[in-house]
Amino acid sequence: MSDLSPSPAAEPGVSAPSSRPALEALPGRLSDLLGLPIRRLLPRAGRRLVGPWCFLDSYGPLGFISGKPMDVAPHPHIGLQTVSWLLEGEVVHNDSLGFRGAGGPGVLNLMTAGLGIAHSEETPSANSGRLRGLQLWVALPEAHRGTPPSFEQHRDLPVLALDGGSVTIVMGSLSDRRSPGRAFSPMVGADVAIGAGRRLQLPLDPEWEHALVPLGGRARAEGQDLAIETLYYLGTGRREIVLEAPDEPARLLLIGGAPFGETVLMWWNFVARSSDEILAAREDWETGRRFGTVAAYAGERLAAPPFVARPVTRP
Ligand code: MN
Repeated sequence: MSDLSPSPAAEPGVSAPSSRPALEALPGRLSDLLGLPIRRLLPRAGRRLVGPWCFLDSYGPLGFISGKPMDVAPHPHIGLQTVSWLLEGEVVHNDSLGFRGAGGPGVLNLMTAGLGIAHSEETPSANSGRLRGLQLWVALPEAHRGTPPSFEQHRDLPVLALDGGSVTIVMGSLSDRRSPGRAFSPMVGADVAIGAGRRLQLPLDPEWEHALVPLGGRARAEGQDLAIETLYYLGTGRREIVLEAPDEPARLLLIGGAPFGETVLMWWNFVARSSDEILAAREDWETGRRFGTVAAYAGERLAAPPFVARPVTRP
């Protein structure tokens, strides 16, 4: 997806891990894309990064009988990976390298932008009439952000069976399971399912920071009911968190990773380090350089919004 309502100036994303365990609720900020409800869960004031995860939108659920609720025209990315994870329905990815990725529930579409790539995302004409998903971005560390662009699709992700439920490893690693998705820093992105009336001990790396987003059912942590579509920042220093689904199956997203340790500069669909770098990427997109063409998309590409290169105050 594209950040459709960027602020005119870049926002610094500071890695600010809590030094201890936390359970801090950050409700999603609701917006709307032509009738498709979108909740922005990252970045938020006070929480810009969780490990290398720098962006998280949850969209839908939506039922539709015609049209294309997802129709994001070609747009550029730099300095990040897009992690697309669908809970219901279908989205087709096309990019400037010529990759086409038809995605659905359980399928990881992973695009590494590196120096620059362009892509589009659309609801296919053959669809289930349902749409719900998660769009995440991973910031690439300094040592790897110049990597050539690439696209991967993974349909057979590892599942960690635990007493009380199971965990699908979407990105990075959890316990002894590792996603085949190419990762450039230590991280986890996982889809956690808890059985009705069950209790699950979710293993965590105490050196990492983590967050949970309840996606369905009713889940509890540390005696507290967790709200759907809310990001719960867990801090660091946890070897596990005990989750319960008291009366119905529950589903949660887990994200986390080693504290990123670098301050990123985010604007529109770019993750950079300086305003000059953003200006250059914007200019290259506007003049048709660097990012190539998404030949498979029938229609106009997105124009870059105005950018104000104001001085960035770094804490
Ligand atoms: Mn995108």
